[in-house]
Amino acid sequence: MKLILIGIQGAGKSTQGNLLSEKLGIPYLSTGHIFREMAKEKTPLGRYIKETINAGYLIPDEKTLEIVTGYLHRPEYEKGYIMDGFPRTTQQAEKFENGIDKVIYLKVSDKEALWRLSGRSDNRQDDTLQAIRKRINLFHEFTEPVIDYFKKKGILVEIDGEKQIEEIHKEILSKLH
Ligand code: AMP
Repeated sequence: MKLILIGIQGAGKSTQGNLLSEKLGIPYLSTGHIFREMAKEKTPLGRYIKETINAGYLIPDEKTLEIVTGYLHRPEYEKGYIMDGFPRTTQQAEKFENGIDKVIYLKVSDKEALWRLSGRSDNRQDDTLQAIRKRINLFHEFTEPVIDYFKKKGILVEIDGEKQIEEIHKEILSKLH
């Protein structure tokens, strides 16, 4: 099964992604994690990615598509995956023809997300308040159209992400058929 998780930062994508991964026996991967690993490389590409993610900007679509497609060719993703953080723009969605089964949209308000993130202990280097606000704005501008795109395709599952973790998990499972 090929699943996509969409939601603003702080919506609970990695929490739900990992729960689903365990339950369904499908690997979870996130483009944010992939890019943060690449940002550690002391190469021009590594430095470019580091600067871009620390500023809260998006990596260009072509580069993102190339990297994601490369990852998904690995044998561990052959049977399926739970993808967090991609596609983030309509161009990425349109160019990514990979037989996605369902797109799970975890809906939370900006206020709730900011509140959750302010109390998070695993603060990342790119988690300055300014970068978080930038990412939330980019989500509204570029990723909300992606939600509509999948809605029109009839594979969108919208979930209230402000409920309890276990409740959300059960609701997602009930809507995967
Ligand atoms: P995330 O952990 O999903 O918030 O991702 C961290 C950062 O990685 C983002 O702020 C972007 O700079 C970059 N990134 C992750 N996924 C994508 C994507 N699909 N397209 C472009 N940039 C991305």
